[in-house]
Amino acid sequence: MRIDLHTHSSASDGTDAPAHLVAQAALAGLDVVALTDHDTTRGWAEAAVASLELGVDLVRGAEISCRAAGVSVHLLSYLHDPESPGLLAEGERTREARLERAREMVERLSVDFALTWADVEEQSEPGTTIGRPHLADALVARGYVADRSAAFTSLLATGSPYYVPHYAPDAVRAVRLVRAAGGVPVMAHPAASVRGRVVPDSVIEEMAAAGLAGLEVHHRDHDDAQRAHMTELAHDLGLLITGSSDYHGEGKPNRLGENTTAPEVLEVIEAQGLLAVVRR
Ligand code: AMP
Ligand code: FE
Ligand code: FE
Ligand code: ZN
Repeated sequence: MRIDLHTHSSASDGTDAPAHLVAQAALAGLDVVALTDHDTTRGWAEAAVASLELGVDLVRGAEISCRAAGVSVHLLSYLHDPESPGLLAEGERTREARLERAREMVERLSVDFALTWADVEEQSEPGTTIGRPHLADALVARGYVADRSAAFTSLLATGSPYYVPHYAPDAVRAVRLVRAAGGVPVMAHPAASVRGRVVPDSVIEEMAAAGLAGLEVHHRDHDDAQRAHMTELAHDLGLLITGSSDYHGEGKPNRLGENTTAPEVLEVIEAQGLLAVVRR
């Protein structure tokens, strides 16, 4: 069983449409794939149809943008009720804030570069969760940077004068909202210092006390020492350990199935989740 529990489609900042992502999962030899777009479930329906057609099991999920101790935190939610009011309202608020923030970043960039909001619209589908990757694609199309990675280490980096933060709920509160929605909360790439500052272990302990189910230990943004430390923390706190690709299609080097999750772990996640895994 090959299980990849973290991927993004064009419903957020991935480049594959949801059905295409499921087709890619089949080609990559995956048995199970989770669709975890940032702050949205709008890719679920299309992915579910493709999952049944192609025989790749689908875990319906999302990656909730959060903050803790002034640090950006990503919380994966699996198998939750997409209509649960608390979680739904936070998702709407975050997507709105992301849109405002992207417009503000384009405003700042447009002082020095020939970049307009129309360029960003060209790189994103209507209704998508807007993020810096869409701005990166617009900058690539204009020829200012070679690819997304180059944009993230220069114009779009957190330390850049063009960078603007956005609202996101507190991570401990988000864990409670996910549980209240019947979802299973797993902290994404908890020790990925290559992405910027990470939270101290004390925040993970608070999240565990609030109902966190697991830690995504096996992720390309973790080195061996970070995996070892997070494995130990997971054992100490009684948390599940997952592994996944964080696939974003063509925009990032992450390949489907490059890290995977054990079948026993998925069984626990499914037992705790409100929704079932979509399977033929
Ligand atoms: P945002 O949530 O808008 O601040 O943008 C962060 C998102 O950008 C993350 O979810 C990643 O998917 C993506 N990202 C971060 N670093 C890179 C990178 N070096 N190359 C491509 N995409 C990246
Ligand atoms: Fe992303
Ligand atoms: Fe993430
Ligand atoms: Zn992700």
